[in-house]
Amino acid sequence: MLELGFFKPFEKSTFTNNQCFLCGLELDVDTRSDEHIFPKWLQRKYSLWNQSLLVLNQTPVRYRYLTVPCCKECNGVHLSKMEIKFQFLFDRRFENLTMDDEQVIFQWTSKLLYGTMFKELSLLYDRSNPLKGNILPVEFVESYEAMHLFLQSIRIPTEFVDPKPWSIFVFNYKGHDFDYMNDISALGVSLKFGEIGVSIVFQDNNCVELFLKKLKYLQSFSLNHVQFLEVSARIFYGKHLAENTPKYFHIFNMEDKVLRVNTLNNLTLREWNDEEFAFYLEQIIRRNKIDIGLPIMDENKSFTTYLVDQDGIKFIDKINKLLSERSV
Ligand SMILES: [Zn+2]
Repeated sequence: MLELGFFKPFEKSTFTNNQCFLCGLELDVDTRSDEHIFPKWLQRKYSLWNQSLLVLNQTPVRYRYLTVPCCKECNGVHLSKMEIKFQFLFDRRFENLTMDDEQVIFQWTSKLLYGTMFKELSLLYDRSNPLKGNILPVEFVESYEAMHLFLQSIRIPTEFVDPKPWSIFVFNYKGHDFDYMNDISALGVSLKFGEIGVSIVFQDNNCVELFLKKLKYLQSFSLNHVQFLEVSARIFYGKHLAENTPKYFHIFNMEDKVLRVNTLNNLTLREWNDEEFAFYLEQIIRRNKIDIGLPIMDENKSFTTYLVDQDGIKFIDKINKLLSERSV
């Protein structure tokens, strides 16, 4: 058993355009290509080419310019294979996901978040004085270091030892548009592909999925835009409740050539706080330029959820009713 000497971009704080973002190969005219953070098929399907995404510092960048430096092998072989597997799951509407399927969704969404972050850090790095050292908080760097390790599963067969380091939720939506939101500090990503969507948080050791298991029953409803924001916010906020940061270690087995990723510790979540969540959700809704009218939490500390049906009945009440009927 040997520990693999991976390319670790964070050790040197180099987010240069001269190395493959995935395997670290030095790029030259023969090996260089650009990997679209949001794949071309997706941009075509939802006409995203000229639309913009707000990156971390709230600067709009057109989807088509969101690329990361990538070697031809990672791009044309490893990432392409993953893309095909993801499209297959997408065509199946992410139904009945197996552990392998979840791993593909995990890889695909990790690349989105990691790629967006890479863009941001390369801008920061260019502007900062390298002699000043790392300007990013240590936890931030550590969590992306783990993310980069997980991304290696795209090119090296990998087994994630339980608990899996992610939580995935699938929802049904109204309308045919594409929507994307992330929370970099929660390591969360939410996507709406027309009538189907996935939300994921990374490095939570599956705690958020267990903690918010009732959210999974929302799949029987068709959610609108503001409901997309609220379910995503609930999942991301769930991750913000983490009291500690999981640490990971990896072992590469030379015999079966499989990388095994293990976690060193369990994650603990503190109690949900409605007031805190109301504040968090309100920020997201305002950022999306939606007029919410009254505050989400009134002076009596009563919380207004958007997760209601057309008659104003809360989905959670419907879910609880269904669950109690089942248990009788
Ligand atoms: Zn590469």
